[in-house]
Amino acid sequence: MSRPVPPPASQSAESPADPSTCTRPTRARRPGPVARLGVSPFDPQESPLARTRRARRMARELAVIHPDAHCELDFTTPLELLVATVLSAQTTDKTVNKVTPALFARYPDAAAYAGADRAELEEILKPTGFFRAKANSVIGLGQALVERFDGVVPGRMADLVTLPGAGRKTANVVLGNAFGVPGLTVDTHFGRLVRRFGWTAEEDPVKVETEVAELVPKKEWTDFSHRVIFHGRRVCHAKKPACGACGLAAWCPSYGIGPLDPEVAAKLVKTPAASDTE
Ligand code: SF4
Repeated sequence: MSRPVPPPASQSAESPADPSTCTRPTRARRPGPVARLGVSPFDPQESPLARTRRARRMARELAVIHPDAHCELDFTTPLELLVATVLSAQTTDKTVNKVTPALFARYPDAAAYAGADRAELEEILKPTGFFRAKANSVIGLGQALVERFDGVVPGRMADLVTLPGAGRKTANVVLGNAFGVPGLTVDTHFGRLVRRFGWTAEEDPVKVETEVAELVPKKEWTDFSHRVIFHGRRVCHAKKPACGACGLAAWCPSYGIGPLDPEVAAKLVKTPAASDTE
């Protein structure tokens, strides 16, 4: 089955200068099956070398499309990032950023969280949702840091994952953005996109991380994660991906699961201000 060659986004009347859209004419290099929403078009016939080359080409293009990709949680220390990441579960980064200035001022170190008044802490955390569970995690975090790490956030994956409320995803965010240790952050955007890219068929985040780690150079893992998440928030949405305005279209076997008409697709692309930060 042949598929149409994706048009350059410069044809779009909506946002020709939007860096989230394709800015160069591209040609489909390899026809692939059009994936259904939510189904990985992982092709076992594609050789590992071809997949790696395609993945690296897509990763380079993502860097062009999203030069501004970065961690959207506000923080100045590893502890602030750790707490903010725990609070970001089930809410947006913007919401977390609204509560953290008061939170960080009230609780400047791990000991302050360990000894926090629960009712007062819950009141601050309320806007982020699940505030009782999050208060538990934050108090538990403070206690664990004081008891086992002298109040200092550890810079090792093996230690971070032992902290209350901190799984592998949180650990990779902290390692990558506060310690400069490369990490792949497999959140819901990341998993959805790399499955659509046909890089993996795995659903389990740890297996996804392992497979993507084979495709992308380690030193790029942190920035690559930000770029994929930006692309998921702005272009390759869960329900209506903007395929007709996507700079990855030439290498993506899922091209066609979203609208292909450039004008329709361009309207689906979220601007940085509108894209949120789930
Ligand atoms: S929006 Fe881009 S990355 Fe997402 S499915 Fe469509 S072509 Fe692929």
